Amino acid sequence: MKVFDVHMHIGEGPVNKNDFAGKLKTAGVDGGAILSQPPSSFIHGGKLSTAERLDNLFLWADSGPALYPFFWVDPTEEDAGEQVKTACGRGVSGFKIICNHFYPGDDRAMKIYKLIAKAGKPVLFHSGICWGGQVSSKYNRPSEFEALIEVDGLKFALAHLSWPWSEECIAVYGKFLDAYSNRPDLSVEMFLDITPGDFSEARRDILERLFTIGYEVSNNILYGTDRSVNNYDFECAKRWIKRDNEVFTRLKLGNEVLEGIYSGNLMRFLGILPGQSGH
Ligand SMILES: [Zn+2]
Repeated sequence: MKVFDVHMHIGEGPVNKNDFAGKLKTAGVDGGAILSQPPSSFIHGGKLSTAERLDNLFLWADSGPALYPFFWVDPTEEDAGEQVKTACGRGVSGFKIICNHFYPGDDRAMKIYKLIAKAGKPVLFHSGICWGGQVSSKYNRPSEFEALIEVDGLKFALAHLSWPWSEECIAVYGKFLDAYSNRPDLSVEMFLDITPGDFSEARRDILERLFTIGYEVSNNILYGTDRSVNNYDFECAKRWIKRDNEVFTRLKLGNEVLEGIYSGNLMRFLGILPGQSGH
């Protein structure tokens, strides 16, 4: 079974492709989504231009055959639309957004999501408590992402199961499913990026809740680690996969579901495999 990590951050520093490729292999990870360095509004962002961040992203993406480059955009920046066009022109697989100083439903941001959806690209959002020293968690409550119901054709994922608001996150997912039955014309699709948000035993309960609540979730879950490409923590990745597999085994998830969580759902998220679930 292939394992993809949809949540790997690029930090500052030299691009060491062989080191990254080697560490992925040791972790038993076949590839996944790599996220560019942040835009200037982010606390560690601002040093590189759009073009430089894209160059750096594609250098890293060259480390392996199954690495999908995601460009991190601040949709409130004046030239965000231009950035999206440039990034699509370069061939990005999708976009990363962290709502660190604006609500997900911000008018400026909504315009950019629509542009991204039109380009057929997905968005990986952060959600849940937001680290990094800024006052930003209030922008990342899962219910704030309800606004995205109006973005036709967009595939988006909320990371970390929005920890510590995981119940709310699962409820918002249910809300999207319910919306389809009321409005069959809707074409937005929500995914759940289950990259750990907490590192405690609570994760087991959250995963159990996710799979037993009664919503059809198995086609919309993505697996990630939030580790860095610069020094991919293969030991940590291995440990988490093992620990989560123990939960999945206890929940008696079949091979088909596991294949979706670790690889198939990502292919659908990226548009490589066709189809939409939930309707
Ligand atoms: Zn992250």
